[in-house]
Amino acid sequence: MKSVLPFIAARDADFATEWLAALQAAMPGETVVPLALLDDAERAQCTVAVVANPQPQDLRSLPQLRWVHSVWAGVERMLADSGDTDLKIVRLVDPQLADTMAEAVLAWTLYLHRDMPRYLRQQRERLWRPHDYVRPQDKTVGLLGLGALGEAAARRLVMAGFDVQGWSRTPRTLAGVTCHAGDQGLTQMLARTDILVCLLPLTAQTQGLLSDSTFGRLTRPAALINFARGAVVDDEALRRALDHGVLSHAVLDVFATEPLPVDSWHWSHPSVTVLPHISAPTNRMTAAAIVAANVAAYRRDGVIPVHVDRSRGY
Ligand code: NAP
Repeated sequence: MKSVLPFIAARDADFATEWLAALQAAMPGETVVPLALLDDAERAQCTVAVVANPQPQDLRSLPQLRWVHSVWAGVERMLADSGDTDLKIVRLVDPQLADTMAEAVLAWTLYLHRDMPRYLRQQRERLWRPHDYVRPQDKTVGLLGLGALGEAAARRLVMAGFDVQGWSRTPRTLAGVTCHAGDQGLTQMLARTDILVCLLPLTAQTQGLLSDSTFGRLTRPAALINFARGAVVDDEALRRALDHGVLSHAVLDVFATEPLPVDSWHWSHPSVTVLPHISAPTNRMTAAAIVAANVAAYRRDGVIPVHVDRSRGY
């Protein structure tokens, strides 16, 4: 008999329909259904669900729920919303997603490395002024976060010839990358950084981490790429750093409030590139295959895949 697997989304019907189709195609042995279609008796049987930004009350309507598989890589909101419970949250770890993020990091690092914001400004002023070329090996990219995404990005940057340094909570070893950990490690990395790339999860420790004090540890004007979460950056500190030349430019894909409000200062700041959270979209097909493999292993062996550690927040 097929098992019932609820899909819980808090988004519009189109979005849910596409996910339902992809998940069902990847799991012919499951009946993948929107939560709303399940009656109380069916809900009482469910121990696992697939989720995309679920409402806390939807999760509470499944009394036997042991774990959820998110189709997103970042799950900080669900973690906060789910409160004091032992519900296990499995986030998406997909090599395709890591590859897409690595591509985005390389693309925007090259944008900054080859001075495109500056030449864009010069064109607007009809100014013909070449600047000295600096080789990638003479530029340091400092990566905040060396997890699934940070590691893939580091590899691409090393291949492109940059001096790559990385920072994580626990010490890491990565070929071709100078790795740092802890507060002292962050200071060491920032002292050398020309382009700072943020790929940290949003946790109690990383919220507002990019502050006056952090930017103050840069020893030369650096550029910032934030592809993680908006709230990792203290927005007013960012504005001050840009206005005072501590930061030369910021490429921002994520914001504390999304969509970015029309009256936000970021839109018109001359040293900011605004992107609408597009650096690494989930690929429905590869994600569905990963969810399918994890759900199949659970149905077979009862093993819940690696999940978020609530005490460290990611
Ligand atoms: P991950 O595998 O969990 O890696 C997180 C990394 O950050 C690890 O290296 C971890 O250190 C480090 N870290 C965590 N807390 C830290 C702290 N307090 N100090 C120093 N380092 C810390 O996460 P991931 O899959 O790479 O994803 C990272 C984030 O990217 C997600 O949480 C999500 O918010 C964001 N994201 C954005 C997009 C987008 O389109 N913009 C798409 C997908 C994901 P350890 O190695 O010591 O554990």
